Amino acid sequence: MLLKQFLRIGLVGFSKKSCRSFTKQPDFTKNTYQIERGFYNYLQEPHLNYFKKILGDDGNRVITDESLLEHYNIDWFKNVKGSSKVVLKPKTTEEVSKIVSYCNANKLAVCTQGGNTGYSAGAVPVFDEVILSMELMNQILDIDVNSGNVVCQSGIVLENLDNILAEKGMMVPLDLGAKGSCQIGGNVATNAGGLRLVRYGNMHGNVLGLEVVKANGEVLDCLKVVRKDNSGLHIKNLFIGSEGTLGIITKVALRCPIRPKTQHVAFLGLQNYEKVLKTLRKCRQDLDEIISAIEVMDSLSLEWGEQHTKLSSPIGRYPYYLLIETSGSNEQHDEAKIQGFLESALNGHYILNGVVTGEPSKVKSLWAIRERLPEGFKNHGWVGMYDLSMPTDQFYNVVDELRTYLKNSADYVFGFGHLGDGNLHLHVITKKYDKRLETDVEKFLMDKILPMKGSMSSEHGLGFIKRKYLPAVNSSESYHFMTDLKKLLDPNRILNPYKVFP
Ligand SMILES: Cc1cc2nc3c(=O)[nH]c(=O)nc-3n(C[C@H](O)[C@H](O)[C@H](O)COP(=O)(O)OP(=O)(O)OC[C@H]3O[C@@H](n4cnc5c(N)ncnc54)[C@H](O)[C@@H]3O)c2cc1C
Repeated sequence: MLLKQFLRIGLVGFSKKSCRSFTKQPDFTKNTYQIERGFYNYLQEPHLNYFKKILGDDGNRVITDESLLEHYNIDWFKNVKGSSKVVLKPKTTEEVSKIVSYCNANKLAVCTQGGNTGYSAGAVPVFDEVILSMELMNQILDIDVNSGNVVCQSGIVLENLDNILAEKGMMVPLDLGAKGSCQIGGNVATNAGGLRLVRYGNMHGNVLGLEVVKANGEVLDCLKVVRKDNSGLHIKNLFIGSEGTLGIITKVALRCPIRPKTQHVAFLGLQNYEKVLKTLRKCRQDLDEIISAIEVMDSLSLEWGEQHTKLSSPIGRYPYYLLIETSGSNEQHDEAKIQGFLESALNGHYILNGVVTGEPSKVKSLWAIRERLPEGFKNHGWVGMYDLSMPTDQFYNVVDELRTYLKNSADYVFGFGHLGDGNLHLHVITKKYDKRLETDVEKFLMDKILPMKGSMSSEHGLGFIKRKYLPAVNSSESYHFMTDLKKLLDPNRILNPYKVFP
């Protein structure tokens, strides 16, 4: 729906720069990053026989076929590659418990894998860890429409769960570009943020309970379904964001908000970042109770997206873009509010141009421009993906300063992200991995971000790629507390080794 005549909707394409992408094949992680294998046992015939005894011998749930293994050994962004010889696909908590307890007793390292969409290379093995794929643990166990919650196995794909909840007028309080592949267990294990955190908060606020299999195979039942529970320590919270290093999440109880009846998305072009901040403040003042997402992109981000997704800006080219989404229960009310906001933002010269729509298919098309940006990362040499939290007024100072600092040593430096949450995704793109450049960029960013009391990993976790941050960005007391917890819960360090804990 076009709400104002001069908010024109059209498909004005950017001039296409030649695209330098190619099909990427990562080298083995151990070669790229030069690291040593831990003292774990190698997979042997008797181990495989045991797994087949539990999961069956038909080749569907104990995968050893080289051609099938590759998919599980390489991450979504094609940055890292492991050399696991087996993928196991349990269907029940009991099976997970038996597998993990056996691996613990036999000192076999385990890498739990959800949808394998993680940004930090936490879900693929570094060496030959046993891959525990959660993809067959995809059952919904209960939906409570009165209390507004769902209990499910952890391997269910986010979008599938959301579609089923939609039939009951409910929704998953999390949305991200990878929703068609990522799993609820992976979302919990990474404490995923996503596009609507500004409205619904993160997984710590939405997970009501968890069932977790510990490294020794014991099942830890924290699967409560109530929103308020102060009867002891909040143990489940330990596993939210633990990235497969403390236990295997097998079941999740999740709060499910009411699905909005109406949604509007505005896609706006702005002159400079000062205007972006002015519009952000205005948007909060005028639309606060119905805002569900506030995303920002700079012109280079959009140009990158255009080259790799065949999507184009509906409003032509501007230095900055804002995508603002509102969600509510009364279409006329929300439409009047967003129209009022846009009119006054235009008249006040906050924004230069924009389109707005409440039509579901067009809402989806506008979102695709933002959500599909990361697709091109798969096909480029090296993509340094920095996931930073900082005061919003500093976002593009940091991007510009890094761009100046790197001069010609990077092909692209651009930033986009969740402006409403103060979370910038900064990208440095080069033809191939260069350790010195990576170390340089990390030092540059740490020197900027840490004095601002910001975060070097807002929502993507540490995984393998950012594990060195753990001691660098936390106080030594909290770092040691974390390593003590790891020793307590996983004394043989079989769970996702080489990840999170350096
Ligand atoms: C296009 C795209 C857009 C994205 N957008 C966002 C975004 O907006 N916000 C955001 O936060 N992330 C985003 N991501 C990153 C990613 O989708 C999230 O981190 C997601 O939560 C990972 O889920 P997954 O099932 O793919 O987990 P995986 O990648 O398989 O695993 C991630 C980590 O969790 C562990 N893990 C997985 N399942 C379990 C389990 N059941 N028990 C214990 N540990 C487990 C793994 O060992 C690994 O360490 C995006 C990724 C892509 C490709």
